[in-house]
Formats: sequence, structure tokens, C-alpha cells
Amino acid sequence: MQLCRRCEKNKQLRVEADISADPFWCGRCLSNLDMDNFTISNALKRELQAWINDYGTWIDWGNDGIIPNGVLLEQRHNEQGALLTAKVKLALQGQYQVVFSPSTFAMGHSK
Ligand SMILES: [Zn+2]
Repeated sequence: MQLCRRCEKNKQLRVEADISADPFWCGRCLSNLDMDNFTISNALKRELQAWINDYGTWIDWGNDGIIPNGVLLEQRHNEQGALLTAKVKLALQGQYQVVFSPSTFAMGHSK
């Protein structure tokens, strides 16, 4: 199956959390991809969805900063993401090259 409508030969799938988007992105043009187009189990989809819903708990939206312990929260979220990416890798073995892109928001905003 073609991964991205725009990038015909691209096999690189990026896993990255963002606000209310599916966690799969084209590794080349960074288009957001529909998780339902991939052959992963419903259980894994639910885990990924929960992980997405947890994204940004460290962000202080009103102040464009992070909450106390935000860096730690983001770190845990990234560890979880790496774990889920390993599962996705296994599920899509031989189809795509799966890479994880961790969140760096809190790290970038910590003083
Ligand atoms: Zn693309």
C-alpha cells in the first residue's frame, strides 16, 4: 500500500503526537495520515489514541509555557511513545520503515 498520497515511493512512517491528530505522519512531506489505513490491531490503535489524548498535559496553554514537572511529564510521554512505536514497527514489519519523533516542547521551554 502507498503510505502517502503525495509521496509515491516513500516508505518512511513517522510516529509523532500532536493535538487531535492521528499519530502517523509521512516521513517525507509530514502529511498527517489516517491510522485506519494501516494494518495494526484495534488494541494498538486504542493505545495510540490514549497516548495522543495524553499529549500536552505538560503545556500551560495560557502562558505558552510548561507546568511544574512538565519536563518529567513530557519525558514519560516520550517513553510511552517509543514503546508504542516499537509495537507499530512490529505490526508493519516489512511494509514501512517506522521512526519515532519525540516531543521536545517542554525541553525547549524549560528554564
Ligand atoms: Zn508524503
